[in-house]
Amino acid sequence: MTDLFEPGAFRTALQNWLADNDLTPPPGDDSLDAHQTQHLRVLKALYNAGWMRYGWPESAGGLGGPDILRAIVGEEIVGRGIDHPGPYSMLDVLTPTMIDYARPELAAEMVPKLLSGQESWCQGFSEPGSGSDLASLTTRAVQQGDTWVISGQKVWTSFAQYATRCILLARTGGPDVPNHQAITAFFVDLDSPGVTVRPLRTMHDVDEFCEVYFDDVAVPADRMLGEPGDGWKLAMDLLPYERSTCFWQRIAYLYSRFDALVAEVKIQGQAIDSEMGEAYLALHTLRCRSRATQHRLGNGQKLGPDTSIDKILLASAEQRLYDTARDLLPGAVELDDTPWRTEYLYSRAASIYGGTAEVQRNIIARRLLDLGRE
Ligand SMILES: Cc1cc2nc3c(=O)[nH]c(=O)nc-3n(C[C@H](O)[C@H](O)[C@H](O)COP(=O)(O)OP(=O)(O)OC[C@H]3O[C@@H](n4cnc5c(N)ncnc54)[C@H](O)[C@@H]3O)c2cc1C
Repeated sequence: MTDLFEPGAFRTALQNWLADNDLTPPPGDDSLDAHQTQHLRVLKALYNAGWMRYGWPESAGGLGGPDILRAIVGEEIVGRGIDHPGPYSMLDVLTPTMIDYARPELAAEMVPKLLSGQESWCQGFSEPGSGSDLASLTTRAVQQGDTWVISGQKVWTSFAQYATRCILLARTGGPDVPNHQAITAFFVDLDSPGVTVRPLRTMHDVDEFCEVYFDDVAVPADRMLGEPGDGWKLAMDLLPYERSTCFWQRIAYLYSRFDALVAEVKIQGQAIDSEMGEAYLALHTLRCRSRATQHRLGNGQKLGPDTSIDKILLASAEQRLYDTARDLLPGAVELDDTPWRTEYLYSRAASIYGGTAEVQRNIIARRLLDLGRE
């Protein structure tokens, strides 16, 4: 019998299954609503066939196996254009850390709902005054018996309008507690009284993220992730996941867009020039780096500030790819309403989300190169 935990055999079996089970998105609707519908449809089919459960612990409804199996599923699904990288990325950003910090019963109850497409989750970290300086966040949680009452505002919360739950950071410690020990994480039901979600339109003309208001929202104490004061540690543990399996599927998507660019440039009768070569080199460098990261994660190593390198390489490769599209497809970005225009605009966000390029460079200088404070 084939060992499905062996990455090569796993990929082949998944590819065979995908050949027999057509999950291509219905044509004609490229709206965010359509992406979300397709996302849930794909998860349901993959979960029912078992694929979405590999690489996740059995204690949380998975079938076990190395993390790398998850990366392979993401690569095949997003790289083939079956699911969009945005909604798909939320699985790898949020779930591993939720499993690490939640009560085992909570993870066992909730994770299968996410992986099977019954629901979506969002990440409530950033606030109007707290992005890079996340530890300054002001959303507050106050304990009242068996509940915590949460008040404050989050912003840039991706896909919150579709989300059933939010992994939220709130301040629980007083002024005498150091910032990094004063933050606590909660797993909040977004249909709780007092939650208001307002979509925000981005410059690429999509309501991809939201402001989320919490007005005296009561959250049961058993929805805390970890212990009081563990929120900062949780946030730091989450980032490396965001930059490993999650990046791998985005890289597969960028390769598919590189191939599409080559095809379009050829149709327009233009030469494949050195700019194209440089875009490919940036993508390939990123993929090599990310491959090593997947293997370190798969071998059980703890990822840390070293993933700031992956983040910088991702942002620069993505932006270079779409700069090349702008240069080689005259007017496609500036004048026409094409996917290149939307994606070019979105690529500008790559050096902001999940940690800005400047802050990542500071981390590399300080923590990896020991160059002292900025
Ligand atoms: C597409 C997208 C999706 C997002 N999704 C989510 C989400 O789902 N959930 C969530 O919680 N957040 C999300 N965010 C928010 C994201 O995490 C923040 O935008 C990011 O952390 C930067 O914070 P900020 O926007 O407040 O910018 P700021 O931190 O105010 O930074 C502004 C500028 O100052 C620079 N800067 C800041 N500090 C320093 C420093 N010490 N040294 C040098 N330069 C510095 C930054 O590099 C940047 O250029 C998303 C953002 C984007 C763009």
